[in-house]
Amino acid sequence: MYDVVIIGGGPSGLTAALYNARARLKTVVLEKTKIGGQIALTHEIANFPGAIEGKDDKDPSGPALVKRMADQATKYGAEIHLSKDVKSIELEGKIKRVICSDGTVYDSHAVICANGAQPRPIGCEGEKDLQGKGVSYCATCDGAFFEDLEVYVVGGGNSAVEEAEFITSFARKVTILQNLPHLTADEIAIEQAKKNPKIDYIFNTVIDEIRGDGLVESMVIRNTETGETTEILADEDDGTFGIFVFIGYIPNTELYKGVLELDDWGYIKTKEDMSTSLPGVFASGDIRPKTLRQVITAAGDGATAAHSAQKYVELTKS
Ligand SMILES: Cc1cc2nc3c(=O)[nH]c(=O)nc-3n(C[C@H](O)[C@H](O)[C@H](O)COP(=O)(O)OP(=O)(O)OC[C@H]3O[C@@H](n4cnc5c(N)ncnc54)[C@H](O)[C@@H]3O)c2cc1C
Repeated sequence: MYDVVIIGGGPSGLTAALYNARARLKTVVLEKTKIGGQIALTHEIANFPGAIEGKDDKDPSGPALVKRMADQATKYGAEIHLSKDVKSIELEGKIKRVICSDGTVYDSHAVICANGAQPRPIGCEGEKDLQGKGVSYCATCDGAFFEDLEVYVVGGGNSAVEEAEFITSFARKVTILQNLPHLTADEIAIEQAKKNPKIDYIFNTVIDEIRGDGLVESMVIRNTETGETTEILADEDDGTFGIFVFIGYIPNTELYKGVLELDDWGYIKTKEDMSTSLPGVFASGDIRPKTLRQVITAAGDGATAAHSAQKYVELTKS
C-alpha cells in the first residue's frame, strides 16, 4: 500500500516524487519505458534554470538532467519502477488501484497522473530517424541550433505561425508548409508573420519523406491538389536544414477517458491545485491544459500536485 502512486516518470512525475518523498510519504513512480519522458529526447536543454554547462561541468543534456532528478527523488526514498506500463485504473474509491500490463497491482491513497503528451508527428518516412537531427517539435528548445540556416515549419495554426516568427531570430529563412490553401492561425498572428520578410509560404503541400545520413539533407514534398512531388535539397554550403513540426499534441489520456473530466482536446481538466474531477486524483505536467509545455512548467505542476496529494493523504489517513 502506497500513499501516492505517480503515473509517468517525466520531469513532472519525478518532481512530484521528490516532494512527496521529502514529505515522508510512501511514493512510487511507474514509468512504462525509461526514465525522463520527452526531455530525454533532447541533447541540450538550455532553458531550465541551472541546467547549463558551467564551471562544475554538469552535462546539459536532457537524459543527464532527468537522471539527476531521479537520483534526487530516490535519495529521499521515492521508488521508481521502470517498464511499468499502466493499463487500467480504478480511481473512484478511497483506495485507488493502478494495474500494469505485466499484471502488477499498486494500491494507494492518492494518484498523480503525469503521463505527459507527445507532439503529433507528420508520420512520414524518415521523420523518426532524423528526430533531433534536423527534425524538431520544439522551437524554444532547438531554434538556436539553426542559426543562419534554412528552416521549414510544418503547420498553419497559431503555434506554427508564432513559432515560425520566433525561429526567424535565428534562421536565415523560414518557410511555412501548410497542407491547406490558407493558414488557420488567428488574424493577429497572420498579420504579424506577413510583416516578417524572412517568412515564406508553401500551401496545399505535405511532406512525404525526409532524407539524410545523420542530419536532414533533403525532403520530398507533395502538392495535395496536383499530386506533383518535388525533392527539396539543402543549400550546398549549409548541407542541412531544419524541419519544425507544429501540428498539435496528443495527450496520453486514453487511460482516463470516461474516468476523469477531459477538455475538448483530451487534456485532463485540473484546478489550480492540480486536483481533477475525482477526489485524491491529481494531474500534472503536459497532460493538463496549459499555454507553455516545458520542463519548468511540468516541474512546477509536479510540486503543486505533490503538495495537494500530501494534504489529501494526511486528511484521509487521520
Ligand atoms: C524533442 C523535444 C525537445 C524538448 N526540449 C525542451 C527543452 O529544451 N526545454 C524544455 O523546457 N522543454 C523541452 N521539451 C518539452 C518537455 O520535454 C516537456 O514539456 C516535458 O517533458 C513534460 O514533462 P511531463 O513529465 O509532463 O511529461 P513527459 O515528459 O511526456 O513524461 C511523461 C512520462 O509518462 C510516461 N507514460 C505515459 N503513459 C504511461 C503509462 N500508461 N504508464 C506508465 N508511464 C507512462 C511516458 O513514457 C513518459 O516518460 C522538449 C520536448 C521534445 C519532444
